[in-house]
Amino acid sequence: MNTIDIKSLSLNELTKEMETIGQPGFRAKQIYEWIHQKLVTSYDEMTNISKDLRGVLAKDYPLTTLQVVNSLKSSNDETIKYLFRLMDNRVIESVLMKYHYGNSVCISSQVGCKMGCKFCASTIGGKERDLLPSEMLDQIYRIQSLTGERVSNVVIMGTGEPFDNYHNLMRFLRLLSDPLGLNISARNITVSTCGIPDKIRAFADEEMPITLALSLHAPNDEVRKKLMPVAFKYSLNEVMEAFKYYYDKTGRRLTFEYSMVEGINDDPDHAKELSGLVKGLNCHINLIPVNPIKERDFRQTKNDRILKFKNILEKNRINVTIRREMGADINAACGQLRKSYIDGDKI
Ligand code: SAH
Repeated sequence: MNTIDIKSLSLNELTKEMETIGQPGFRAKQIYEWIHQKLVTSYDEMTNISKDLRGVLAKDYPLTTLQVVNSLKSSNDETIKYLFRLMDNRVIESVLMKYHYGNSVCISSQVGCKMGCKFCASTIGGKERDLLPSEMLDQIYRIQSLTGERVSNVVIMGTGEPFDNYHNLMRFLRLLSDPLGLNISARNITVSTCGIPDKIRAFADEEMPITLALSLHAPNDEVRKKLMPVAFKYSLNEVMEAFKYYYDKTGRRLTFEYSMVEGINDDPDHAKELSGLVKGLNCHINLIPVNPIKERDFRQTKNDRILKFKNILEKNRINVTIRREMGADINAACGQLRKSYIDGDKI
């Protein structure tokens, strides 16, 4: 028999699976709670399950568990970056950020990424594979277990394009928000995408009130093409229409991310054009000074220029914040820690 990834199954599916090996429904619920509430890493910890059954489960239903390779704590804030090893020895990274409202974990959705954004370390080696729902979940489960503190918010903003792994993403989100699991409500979850219109619409139709963030990074197609190859495939107009559809369906305020790159997208005229682009939308713009990576020569926009950009947006009554750079000293931007590990840098 092929093994089954039990941590990716819904309670219904797990119940059916247990029926096939002659186990009653309540057994499935017990196992589900051990996995998704008590966050155990082995069947031996499931003390109300018989030893015989634990043996069968361990053989045919292996528990997908990540191993910590390294964790780095930032010196200037409450950020910890984790490097995890998957069962096939590939490595991924996740970040824990402590805020006044709770602990937020930023997870990866793929090993590497194929989207090719010019300033991003995650995409340099391309995409190796999609992450399974269990592998997305376990980034959160391990961090909650290691810190002994409840994770209250999750952002899917690490390595990978979540909408390029749509079905696994949806399964993961349902398990994450399940009252019999960690029970993290859709309102406390954010998915960030480079902007794939048909997936944004499909996501809207799921009717889960999750916050959607768009990596915008430019006020028009011409500038966007300099930073994001995906802009050659979909025009901003198409992406924005899909984004509005998302808002109409879910009522969730839209978030735009705008990484500021010196001399590319940081002109005052860009701020004016951006104001026009988002005018009338219930939205919020995050300005992020780009985190330089050694493989590219993009530079951060200087602070005074970022402030000027922000002022123009504010004058146009746009909600805007400059995102604090958390953990810049620990390779915090997307994919940087994993990349230095693979490159053999001293980390
Ligand atoms: N693929 C998704 C989610 C992962 S990237 C997306 O595109 O949204 C998470 C965010 O970090 C994106 O906005 C991305 O553009 C941004 N980002 C990646 N590398 C960065 C860097 N070096 N500096 C600043 N922002 C970066």
